[in-house]
Amino acid sequence: MQVDYIIVGLGLAGVAFTKELAENNKSFVVFEDNSQNSSMVAGGMYNPVILKRFTLVWDAVDQLRLAIPFYRDLEEKFQKKYHYQINIYRILKSFEEQNNWFESCDKPLLSGYMKPEIITKKFKGIIANYGFGKLTNTGRIDTKNLLNDYRNFLTSKKLVKNESFNYDELEIEKEAISYNGIKAFKIVFCEGFGLKKNPFFKYLPMKEVKGELLTIHAPDLDVDFLIKAALFVLPLGNNYYKVGATFNWQDKTKLPSEEGKQELILKLESFISSPYKIVDHTAGIRPTVKDRRPLVGKHPTYQNLAIFNGLGTRGVMIAPKMAKTLYNHLEKEVVLPAEISITRFEKYFLNQDGTLQKS
Ligand SMILES: Cc1cc2nc3c(=O)[nH]c(=O)nc-3n(C[C@H](O)[C@H](O)[C@H](O)COP(=O)(O)OP(=O)(O)OC[C@H]3O[C@@H](n4cnc5c(N)ncnc54)[C@H](O)[C@@H]3O)c2cc1C
Repeated sequence: MQVDYIIVGLGLAGVAFTKELAENNKSFVVFEDNSQNSSMVAGGMYNPVILKRFTLVWDAVDQLRLAIPFYRDLEEKFQKKYHYQINIYRILKSFEEQNNWFESCDKPLLSGYMKPEIITKKFKGIIANYGFGKLTNTGRIDTKNLLNDYRNFLTSKKLVKNESFNYDELEIEKEAISYNGIKAFKIVFCEGFGLKKNPFFKYLPMKEVKGELLTIHAPDLDVDFLIKAALFVLPLGNNYYKVGATFNWQDKTKLPSEEGKQELILKLESFISSPYKIVDHTAGIRPTVKDRRPLVGKHPTYQNLAIFNGLGTRGVMIAPKMAKTLYNHLEKEVVLPAEISITRFEKYFLNQDGTLQKS
């Protein structure tokens, strides 16, 4: 078997990169072993405003410019709905926060998202003594259904191998690589937290963060916007809501925990007074990086090995733009912006294995 690319991992990063390959008529095969599930469990929200400080997320406007058509394309391809426009109502905690809200609304880029008013309307079951700040042009991607449909589609084309990629069996030559009878020009690793097992790229400083989520049914809570306070409460329809998420830097398992559940319940009940029933509890590990920028680029020694990772807490927005950027780098030699290129961490690579030289 001869392909242009081998891809390891079919989460949001793998989806975005293989979509880019397909659009450029490049052939590929993907390995996926379900060892990680960040993209499957994600809340799927995209929101260009950091709701703690009311500042704009890094590169948000440009990322969204590419992300919205990217998901629309997939909706058209599979004739399914994945994109839901959902406003965000941020519960304000004090008069000071109300003032900060108005100040931020005046800033040029934020004014496209933050409405310059305080919503004082009372909603049954929500405790909000200082009202809400409203954000628009925000929304949710149903990543679970999208991923399942995309995986089924590639599987039907025989482009997915449902098995673990075994790094020891990769053979690297100057112009090509081979793996268990598959020859390719390049390989791109999109393993999320699975990166930690990858001997070629594990030198990169990933700071993985486990997140847990509940799905609740709250018959008396009836809103069509996302409520943001200590947690988010995201409407799924029919009075079902996704509630999340925790941030745990110690636990490296993707298993839901009792500790995580109790934390979510405690925080949820600080601003939701409606009765509810928990119907689901999930967890996953976010592949975050200490400087909160993606990990993109070629291996320092082996130029036909590349990485697409570090999507952190905002994979929905970042993945489509990063896929294009990495593709242009690998195929057209467009230089990567320094802030996303893994060359920013080369010192860790050399420290770890000083015998390897750049080719
Ligand atoms: C609780 C939670 C809530 C979140 N909410 C949001 C949100 O609202 N909005 C947002 O934008 N982001 C959110 N995120 C973050 C988002 O999920 C991530 O940024 C994104 O999913 C990362 O995608 P990825 O493809 O890099 O990694 P992953 O989704 O982890 O995919 C990596 C894939 O590689 C596979 N793999 C790994 N190693 C191997 C191997 N050796 N062989 C074969 N396959 C392998 C894994 O099985 C996995 O399918 C959330 C994350 C969590 C955990």
